[in-house]
Amino acid sequence: MSDRPDVIVVGGGLGGLLVACEVLRRGGRPLLLEAGPNPGGVAATIHDQGYVLEPAAGSFLLPHSHLTPILESARATTVPAAAAHRRYVYNRDTLFELAGPAAAATRLVTTRGKLRLLREPWVSTPPGSADESLLAFLERRLGPEVGRLGATLMAHGVFAGDPAQLSARAAYPRFVALEDGSGSMVRGGIERRRSRPEGTPRATVHVAPNGMAGLAAELAAHLGDDFRADWPVESVQHDGDEWAVVGAGEERAASVVVALAPAQAARVVPARLAAILDEAHAAPVAVVGLGGHAADLPVPSGFGALTGPDTDLHILGLLFESSYAPGRSPARHRLLKGIFGGAADPSVLGLSDDDLVELATEEAGRMLDVPLLPSWTRVVRHEAGIPQYHLGHGAWLERLDGLGAELPGLHLAGWGYRGIGVSSLAEDAALIAQRVLTRR
Ligand SMILES: Cc1cc2nc3c(=O)[nH]c(=O)nc-3n(C[C@H](O)[C@H](O)[C@H](O)COP(=O)(O)OP(=O)(O)OC[C@H]3O[C@@H](n4cnc5c(N)ncnc54)[C@H](O)[C@@H]3O)c2cc1C
Repeated sequence: MSDRPDVIVVGGGLGGLLVACEVLRRGGRPLLLEAGPNPGGVAATIHDQGYVLEPAAGSFLLPHSHLTPILESARATTVPAAAAHRRYVYNRDTLFELAGPAAAATRLVTTRGKLRLLREPWVSTPPGSADESLLAFLERRLGPEVGRLGATLMAHGVFAGDPAQLSARAAYPRFVALEDGSGSMVRGGIERRRSRPEGTPRATVHVAPNGMAGLAAELAAHLGDDFRADWPVESVQHDGDEWAVVGAGEERAASVVVALAPAQAARVVPARLAAILDEAHAAPVAVVGLGGHAADLPVPSGFGALTGPDTDLHILGLLFESSYAPGRSPARHRLLKGIFGGAADPSVLGLSDDDLVELATEEAGRMLDVPLLPSWTRVVRHEAGIPQYHLGHGAWLERLDGLGAELPGLHLAGWGYRGIGVSSLAEDAALIAQRVLTRR
């Protein structure tokens, strides 16, 4: 029996780890090669003076049909978040709560906007399935006011993106599928809920108590010696019926999964694929952690607040870390996390760390309507950026798929392609694992 792996996975971020663990769960043998000393990629949790700052993924929804089985098979530790259902929006200089009794009477949306929203089920659907921006799609369906608000929140919350540039179909396929399937988002949502088998548990926000880096380490440990750190891959070459992966050594397998962001992947894959990957968009973001004594940093109960379209603030979102994820700050202390930059405001990354902290402190204070005096601060910059699924992303994916026939056994995974969140990475992992194992 050959000791060759069924698949070589390049990149030990959450995307690559989920693919490798899913292949293992289905009875295959993956070999994962990671350039750095640790698994986890951008989700590199910072532990400092009792604060735990997640610079990237910090929460995810469970149970999930694909993520849950992978995490369970690796015995990865997760716990439910606290009070995560309490969410806020900051718009027109006011913080609005979206859950609970306050939500029903919210003045976030005008009466005119609410009345237009009620007409959504009767809005006609244009023929065809043209690529449409998230802003255009939601304005068409929900009306100009709620559409612009919703598109801004969705773009800020997941992509740090520009709603006029993001493709609705690529960035939020489930929403567009509601219109495709039922002619209305409201009707589609109701039908989807009704079709759910009775007793299906509702997914709720979960966190990794040992940090996302801890969760990544648990997934890597599950792979045993088939997770190799300090193994930078230089090239992935098609050689006869198999793939040669060259870097710290040479490894061969019938399939290879390149789980790197498109710009990183372009440096190692065959040139004709690299040329397409180089067209991908990404937007840099900065994450600012503000910690301090509860008296100096009063953090409301809940998950956090996103900023709407009618504000002069730079901050895209403010997460109440110590509120929904206990353990992220020392006792009697609190932690806030602000997200800056993104597609609409990349120049803010030109600020020094000190200026970013000052901006975050001032803007978070305005959002919460209280002066903040943080005693612990940290700035993490994602210069390579969050992938942006701009208009044309679907056609770009089709061109990549089109090359698949010329490069059999090569797959692309990670957040650059079919979803940004950890649960999307797990869905992708299931699809890729199935393709890899049918090729054995
Ligand atoms: C601010 C922010 C907040 C977020 N919040 C959430 C959230 O709350 N929930 C959620 O679900 N998601 C969230 N995400 C998204 C989530 O963090 C990402 O989807 C995920 O971490 C991306 O993982 P990846 O493996 O695709 O990429 P990466 O993390 O970039 O991993 C790629 C890996 O490949 C390695 N590598 C690079 N080049 C090579 C090479 N040549 N050879 C070998 N290895 C190589 C790198 O060292 C790295 O480890 C957030 C992201 C950001 C930036």
